[in-house]
Amino acid sequence: MRTDSGRYGFIGEIFSSFQGEGPYVGRRQIFIRLAGCELGCTYCDTSDFRKPADSFRVEHVHGSGEWSYIDNPASVDDVIGVIKLLHTPDVHSISITGGEPLIQPEFLEGLAVKIKDARLRLFLETSGCDHGAFMKVLEYTDIASIDVKLPSHKAVRPEKWEVLYENELACVQSASSAGIETVVKVVITGEDDRAPFERLCDDLQGSGDGVWMVIQPVTPPDMLIGNGDNDGCVSPSLLFSLSETAAGTFKEGHVMVLPQMHRMIGVL
Ligand code: SF4
Repeated sequence: MRTDSGRYGFIGEIFSSFQGEGPYVGRRQIFIRLAGCELGCTYCDTSDFRKPADSFRVEHVHGSGEWSYIDNPASVDDVIGVIKLLHTPDVHSISITGGEPLIQPEFLEGLAVKIKDARLRLFLETSGCDHGAFMKVLEYTDIASIDVKLPSHKAVRPEKWEVLYENELACVQSASSAGIETVVKVVITGEDDRAPFERLCDDLQGSGDGVWMVIQPVTPPDMLIGNGDNDGCVSPSLLFSLSETAAGTFKEGHVMVLPQMHRMIGVL
């Protein structure tokens, strides 16, 4: 196994699709899903990638569902080569997502540098679990999407939640202070999230005009659009209420309630 952690890292998959969440929904992106995550969110939809595997998969024909496999760990240059192969004229940015990208900070930094060298936009999707690691890539990041975990998500044990939350807040503040477009995404699972969400809005008062708040109702596992079955959906009254709360903190027009849109059109 190659061990130069600054140049090699564990990937889960690479594919081209449309951003399905937040203010950049619908933008074409190439997704680099890094493998590995130490959290355990109840709603995780990428659990297959929480542990690194011996290989990662690449969808060379967009939307085909046909994959080829490449050995892990991969070099930064391997990944940049795949990006060039998948690139199309409509690509808005390169999304580095997870898993959790921040648990491979040197590899993440190496990728970020090369993505900027290639004059591509970097869209970083992270839980913000490690502020120190986040700072290593901040200067290369164009858009930071930070997925703040509430206690109901069970991302960590209850006694560790405050530490996770402080890291997430610090990432938001650092990104905003650096003038980077910053998206705070919060998955809402139900009424238990009301009080922690209100606290989050209080804690982000004064975080800056470049910050977006995306309230994302949790996606029921078997939800299909148009099937008339709303079992498991978050109540509309809660979503209205949280949106109104967020309006007291974030710039006008920067509060959104948006489900995972990519599921509606059946893409990754
Ligand atoms: S941080 Fe992301 S990858 Fe990790 S458990 Fe939560 S949803 Fe899954």
